[in-house]
Amino acid sequence: MARSRSGTRGKRGPRKPPRRDFSQSAVQTLDPSAVGPVEIPATITVKDLADLLKVNPADVIRELIKSGIFATINQLIDRETATLVAEELGYAVSETTAAAAAEEAAEEAVAEAAKPSIFDEDATADLQPRAPIVTVMGHVDHGKTSLLDAIRSTAVASGERGGITQHIGASEVTKNGRRIVFLDTPGHEAFTAMRARGARVTDIAIIVVAADDGVMPQTLEAIAHARAAKVPIVVALNKIDKPDANPDRVKTELTEANVVIEEYGGDVPMVPVSAKARTGLEDLLEVVLLVADLQELKADPRRPAAGTIVEAELDKGRGPVATALVQTGTLHVGDAVVVGQTYGKVRAMEDARGKRVTKAGPSSAVVLLGISEVPEAGDVLEVVEDERKARAVAEERRAAAAARESGSGRATLEDLYRQIQAGQAKELRIVLKADVSGSLGAITHALEQIATDEVKINILHEGAGDITDNDILLASASDAIVVGFNTSITPTARRSAESEGVDVRSYDIIYKLTDDIEAALSGMLEPVLVEQVEGRAEVRQVFRVGKSTVIAGCYVTEGRIVRNSGARVWRSGKVITTDRIESLRRFRDDVREVAQNFECGIGLADFHDIVEGDIIESFTQQQVSRAVGR
Ligand code: GDP
Repeated sequence: MARSRSGTRGKRGPRKPPRRDFSQSAVQTLDPSAVGPVEIPATITVKDLADLLKVNPADVIRELIKSGIFATINQLIDRETATLVAEELGYAVSETTAAAAAEEAAEEAVAEAAKPSIFDEDATADLQPRAPIVTVMGHVDHGKTSLLDAIRSTAVASGERGGITQHIGASEVTKNGRRIVFLDTPGHEAFTAMRARGARVTDIAIIVVAADDGVMPQTLEAIAHARAAKVPIVVALNKIDKPDANPDRVKTELTEANVVIEEYGGDVPMVPVSAKARTGLEDLLEVVLLVADLQELKADPRRPAAGTIVEAELDKGRGPVATALVQTGTLHVGDAVVVGQTYGKVRAMEDARGKRVTKAGPSSAVVLLGISEVPEAGDVLEVVEDERKARAVAEERRAAAAARESGSGRATLEDLYRQIQAGQAKELRIVLKADVSGSLGAITHALEQIATDEVKINILHEGAGDITDNDILLASASDAIVVGFNTSITPTARRSAESEGVDVRSYDIIYKLTDDIEAALSGMLEPVLVEQVEGRAEVRQVFRVGKSTVIAGCYVTEGRIVRNSGARVWRSGKVITTDRIESLRRFRDDVREVAQNFECGIGLADFHDIVEGDIIESFTQQQVSRAVGR
């Protein structure tokens, strides 16, 4: 998988001076200094850049490899990357090119944020009402699955169209001649995992609360998730058939959680139902439609389709199969599509009932064939002019993702002050967990005291217990930090915090917590770094690519080797140098990490005198809160 750009000069530190000695280079045909400053266009292929610089394309590729970019000869790279390569090869770049490259790099982040969404409708479009898309969430065993099943089978039993036979990740029911689309994966995990990837598919969240059990921790989580996503809530008060059902208790508990139902003067509808006895289901659907009406959900069926993948898998016979939710426009068989970082041409489609269709309009779920690789749930689907364009966009996205990967864009306390200064941060969002609910109020109160005029403190979710995967997901999707008080973090949550780049802080004394946040608000917070050895690899063979690129063919003997981590080279029991793992490959793919008992190719940033038998140790530095372990 080749990547077309790094875009990471700023992240990789200052530009290095040219270090090639051209007098000895066999392929070099011209003295760079005789060429004069070169002009580089906004994008250029590797081959054209080589022509421009009068060097062998292999030289350009080698320079790119040094920056961790594995490009092919016909691949487009951007001006910033090309400028870097030209400079590394000893060329002067014209001032206008250099200025443009710097400006483009700076503007990139801003442009990315301000990019219009493909879901935005044209101001002149003829918008038509569209069906609502609903997610069912709530505490475990409160009846989410039963409710979905009951709704689907009732819609069929009552003689209306609806209900599906196969599991495709979404289903449609019809009520009063109007369609309602349900996402089939109940629970806020899937919902938030998709939202963390930028997908916004849900129009309405049904929060199921069992009348005999009341508001439970996951109910509160579900509420927090829906609120963070600004999705209106409908409460389904389930299991009202049970003798010990206690609706009044649930209503009070909801009010305590700031969900004030209509009966109590609020704006959240509540519908008593029984998934088991199949009562109240029609009322629930009516209410969903009413809430949908208030939202005035509209889309333009005539525009090219845009949607989100809700499920995807590799089918042995049919290749990648994906369920897409078309959110606006109409998707046709034969359309060229970009789907996240992959692309394709729609070969065939089936609707939510398993019927072959040739087109799918706004708010419809379809299974589609013809995508080149299996996309991920949450990936955006977008129709483009033709397959060529689809491929180009997919490659661009892949490159952008690689660039993002090397620099975390997530909120951290250390970064907060810079964001405030840049006017990017107006509030500090926090997911708060504490050992006992009694502490929560005290901490919230203390935090409220330190909000400033410029920065609000917004507690997205608070709860008692360990920091879990869900907390990390919520923080990741909402650019929040996670604060734990006298509580621990589950191992899986720790792993996802690392991979999502979520800042997790643990404290055991309230004033330390408030001190840190105060310091962050005033730009005084210094990161505390702790080193962690990730793993070790033994060098089995050394490959020299040209003069200065050396790849160590290694076998990972312990832990894992992580790209861009620090690297210590051990020889005969002594550390001979400390460097950085600049490139990491498995076979021909560059990868983020390689696990124990696997082979890999490691390229170090500066040290090139690696020999067989050396041990490369991969280590990372992690930011820790000062309150941890003190
Ligand atoms: P989920 O974990 O939220 O998806 O909950 P399930 O749908 O799996 O339901 C959990 C249990 O509650 C199952 O044993 C269901 O049969 C039962 N259940 C679900 N809805 C009702 C209901 O309306 N009334 C009664 N009595 N039991 C229900």
